[in-house]
Amino acid sequence: MLNRILSPDGISQLEGLLDSSKYIVITCHISPDGDAMGSSLALCRALTNIGKKVKVVVPDTPPKYLMFLPGAAEIVVYSRSEQFARKLFASTQLIFCLDYNEPKRIDLVAEPMLASQAPKVLIDHHLNPSEFPDIVMSHPEEPSTSSLVYRTLSDLGLSECIDRECAECIYTGMMTDTGNFSYNSNNADLYEIIADLVRRGIDKDSIYQKVYFSNSLNRLRLNGYAIMEKLEIFPEHKAALITLTRKELNRFQYQKGDTESLVNKPLTMPDIVYSVFLREENDYIKVSARSKGDFPVNMLCERHYNGGGHLNAAGGEFYGTMEEAVDVFKQLMPLFDGCL
Ligand code: 5GP
Ligand code: MN
Repeated sequence: MLNRILSPDGISQLEGLLDSSKYIVITCHISPDGDAMGSSLALCRALTNIGKKVKVVVPDTPPKYLMFLPGAAEIVVYSRSEQFARKLFASTQLIFCLDYNEPKRIDLVAEPMLASQAPKVLIDHHLNPSEFPDIVMSHPEEPSTSSLVYRTLSDLGLSECIDRECAECIYTGMMTDTGNFSYNSNNADLYEIIADLVRRGIDKDSIYQKVYFSNSLNRLRLNGYAIMEKLEIFPEHKAALITLTRKELNRFQYQKGDTESLVNKPLTMPDIVYSVFLREENDYIKVSARSKGDFPVNMLCERHYNGGGHLNAAGGEFYGTMEEAVDVFKQLMPLFDGCL
C-alpha cells in the first residue's frame, strides 16, 4: 500500500476544484523533458477520461524523441500558437502547474498563466516552490512529478482513469527523471507504482527503447565529438566541463534534445564528482550540471548561473560569452572544494 501524499483537506480541496471545472489547462516547463511531458500528458489523459476538456500548453517545441507519448501531438506549443494559448488561459477554469517551482521556468507562458483568474494547482518535486498557486503540492523527496501525478490520482480515488496510455506517460517520466532508475530510486514505493503500471498494460522495455534508442547519426557524432574534443577534466576539483558553441552545434545539425544526457557521461569516471555542460544558445549559454553524492549542483547553478534545480541535477542560464561562462566555472571550482 502506498502512503497518501494528500491530506484529507488537500483531497477535498482538489476534489472541489475538479468538480467545479470542466475546462482545464496543464502547463510544464520550457524545454520539456520526459518528466514534464510525461506528467502533463498523464494528467491530461486521466482527466479527459473523466470527461474534462483538457489542454496541455508547453512553452516551446518538445523534443522529437518524446513525441511517441500518447497525446503529444495535441499539445499546444506556445511559441507557435500564442493567440490560441492565450484564449485557453483566459477561458479555463483550472490550471495545473507541473514539474516546475516558479513562473520563470515557463518563460513567456508565465504572463498569461498568472493573469488567468482560474485557480492554480502546483504539483512538483523541485525545492522552494514560489507562492503563486492556490494549492501547492511540493514534494522534493519524490523522484519525479510523474509519480506524484500517479499518487495524486490514487489519493483522489481516480486510479480507474489510469489506462494504458496514461500509464505509459507516467512510466516515461519516472524512468527519465531517475536515469532509468539509476539515481533517486531507492524508494520501494516506486516499484509498487511500476508493478501497477505494468499491470495496466505498459511495455516498459519498448518505452526504454523509444526514449533511449532514438539517436540520429548526427546526434551520435555530436556526442562523440563533445567527449573526444571538448571534455576537460579538473582532477584536483573532481570536476568535468564540456562546452559546445553554436558553430559546433551547427556542424552536426543540432536538434533540440541531441545533447540530452551528455552532461552525465563524465560522471561515469569514478573520480569525477560533478560535471557541467555549457551549450551556446542564441542569446545566452545554457548550463546543465550533474553530480554524485552530496555535491550540490543546485547551489552552484543558483549562485553562478541564474538557475537552480535538484541536489544532483540542476541547470541555469548564463548571459555572456562562452569564454566568460568558462571563466566563471574555473573561478567557482575552488569555492566548491569544501563540498567534495
Ligand atoms: P537540465 O540540465 O536537464 O536542463 O536540467 C536539470 C534540472 O535542472 C531540471 O530538472 C530543473 O530542475 C533544473 N533546471 C534546469 N535549467 C534551469 C534553469 O534555468 N533554472 C532553474 N531554476 N532550474 C533549472
Ligand atoms: Mn521532474
